[in-house]
Formats: sequence, C-alpha cells, structure tokens
Amino acid sequence: MTTTIRCLMTCILALILVPALAAEDHFQVTTLAPDLLMLSTDQGSYCTNSLVFTGEDGVLLVDTHGTADAEAFEEFVDKLGLGAPRYIINTHRHVEHIGGNALFGPDPIGVAHRLFPDKLRSGTFLFNEYPPDAFPDITFADSLEIEFNGETIRLVAIGGSHDDNEIMVHFKRHGIAHVSSVVNGFNFPSVDGDGDVMQFEPQVRRLMTLLPPDVRLVSGHNGQATGFDFVGTWEQLPAYADMMMSTVEIVREGLTAGKTVEELQAAGAIDEFQQYAGSYVGTDDWIVYVEDALTVPRETRKDICKPVFAAWKLDGAGAAVACYRRLKETEPLEYDEHETVLLSIGGKLYHRGLYSDACEFLLGCVDLYPDAEYGYYTQYLLARGYDALEWPELAREHCEKSVSLNPDFAGATGFLAELSGDVSED
Ligand SMILES: [Zn+2]
Repeated sequence: MTTTIRCLMTCILALILVPALAAEDHFQVTTLAPDLLMLSTDQGSYCTNSLVFTGEDGVLLVDTHGTADAEAFEEFVDKLGLGAPRYIINTHRHVEHIGGNALFGPDPIGVAHRLFPDKLRSGTFLFNEYPPDAFPDITFADSLEIEFNGETIRLVAIGGSHDDNEIMVHFKRHGIAHVSSVVNGFNFPSVDGDGDVMQFEPQVRRLMTLLPPDVRLVSGHNGQATGFDFVGTWEQLPAYADMMMSTVEIVREGLTAGKTVEELQAAGAIDEFQQYAGSYVGTDDWIVYVEDALTVPRETRKDICKPVFAAWKLDGAGAAVACYRRLKETEPLEYDEHETVLLSIGGKLYHRGLYSDACEFLLGCVDLYPDAEYGYYTQYLLARGYDALEWPELAREHCEKSVSLNPDFAGATGFLAELSGDVSED
C-alpha cells in the first residue's frame, strides 16, 4: 500500500503548498505550435501540464490543472477571447488534471475514459462531491477520434500503469501526443492504487506502436530536473521501457537472493538508472514500488468510503468516523481500511472549507493510527483546520506535534513560526 500513500501525499502536498499567483505568473507557456500551447504549473518538486488548442472551431483543452490553479487556468482561457471551450478532454481522474472542469460550466463537451465517472464517485473522491459539470459527457473504452479545428485528435486508452483510466491524446497533424502520466517526463513514475508497476513496460512499448517516430510527447508531469518546458521524443520510449524491464529484474533477483529493500537501497542496486530520478520518485522509492508490486498480493476489498460517506451525509462527521472505526474493527479484511483514508478525507474537507468536519476525520485518523507514517501531516492539517476555526491554542498544539514528528517538514515549521508571530503573513 506504500504506493497509494505516496501518490496520495503527492496530491495533498501539491494542494497545500502551491502559492497563489496571478494568471500571467501562474503558468509557464510553451508554444508547441502557434495554435497549440502547453501550460505548466509548478507543484513544488514537479510540474503539471495541460494543452490549449485553438482555431476556427474554438478552444479544446486537455486537462484543467488542480484546484489551486483552476481559476488562473480559466482566466487564461477566458483571455483568449474565443468563448467557453468546446471540448475538455481529461487524460485521467487525478486531482491535478481535473480541478478546473466544473469552472467552465455546462457548455464544454467533456471526454474521458469509461472508468472515469465511477472513479470520481468512489473512494475518498466521494468527499469531493464533484458537481455534474466536472463529469464527462462522452466516455469510451478503447479509442475515439474527434475532428476539430481542421485536426484529427485521436484518443486511445492506455490505462493500467500509473492509473487504470488513462488515455493518450494524439494531435495527428501537429505530431504532438499528450501521454498522460505513463512516462512521467521520463522520470521514475508514481503508481496509483489502481495502477500496476508491471504494466509500465508494456504500455510504453504500446505507445511505440501507436505513435509515429517523429511525434513529440507531452507528459502529464515533468520533474524539475528535466525542466518545466520539457517535451519528449519517440526515441526516448525504448530506453524508458528497457529501464522498466531492467529495474524490475534487478529488484526481483535481489529479493530472490534474500536481500531486503533496505539492503538493495544501501547497495545502490539501480543506481545505473539515476538519470531517471529527476522527479518526486527517486531510486530508493522506485525500489519500494517494485518490491511492493512483486511481493504484495493485489487484492480487491470493498470501498470503505461508501458507507462512511453515507454516514457523514446522514448523521455528520462523528457518525462517519464511528462507522469507519466499526468496519475497521469488525471487518478488517472485508474493507479497504488504511492509515491514509481518514487523512485523505480530512484533507479534502479542509480544502472545501469544511474545517470542523475535517478536524473530526483527522482526529479519528490520529486515534485509530497513532503510528501512521504520515502522522506528521495529519497533525499539520489539524493545525491548519483549528487555525481556520480560530482556535489558536489547538492549532499551535497540533503544529508543534507535527514538527516533533518530522522536523524536516517545512510546511509545519513555517506554519509554527507564523503561529508564533515570528514571521508576518504576506
Ligand atoms: Zn495521476
């Protein structure tokens, strides 16, 4: 489950730490063609990329950034003076790619993979309570073509590696393809709970057959090492697929020889692939991902968020946490309870401004998982929540707890200084 945690934390950290900037400062704009722009946002240790395609038919968007960047994105599109987008295509359901969907209202035709709507109505996504405009109007299972602005835009399902509902968006005449998060800027990728480390190599090799050799590749994310205006090439795909194959084999052989993850990390088992560690997943992290895939059985358990969400809607946060506790204690193998679930729900409610409920879920998390790996982050969010509720003593108490659990976490040390009046808030 380590992989799920890492992906989740990336999302949460991105949501909290991105500074608010004016629209013109918000995006690094890369002109792929006069009518096709790539907009990149700085998420801390990586960037997120969308595409804006303009022409006589209007505007077509590929992804709409995260919540913190959504308004600036809408402002950017609005300033083009071409009206509401005609199409919004989402490469997959993660929060950094869909945050602006609903801001554009009901007019755009939303297009996404067939699994996408159910994904937004399950797990902790339930607590986002996305409005209807965030959902696609058209979904597909395998492939689809759209004729727009004199271009043929080819969409092909490429799910299974980073996430299970990813699609590729190929602008055929432009020779540009947005390949979602499958290559991750040619850095080690992150893997969602619904993704699979073992599917990267086959999916990358599939991209090699789906796309022509002269294509330029836009990635859902790039690492800082590759630069925020990074555009990849077809020639990078074979080596990336080979790296996937080799790293899996190295870790597999190490484990078979009786080595532990820590020993493989200490020995620098995959250091020859250090060049791929340009993003938020380093060589040590990738060893963990691969070991996880090789040793932890893939299991399907019931979505604990469904009954917890129902309890929240019916009787409030206290009842929802009690429901979670009951299911965890009485049916632990039946439901997908995990130490990050209540933290994730608390984070989502915090970002929706539902501070009291957020704190209730976060306190439940602290109580049920006292030794959680990301306990420092739960404490930090509690501090943020109590601060928003104007309970300064509790805010300070939880912030101090966060710092004591992880002195290296700049979010909490900075916030503690702010709470102590050591720095002025801009
Ligand atoms: Zn993603």
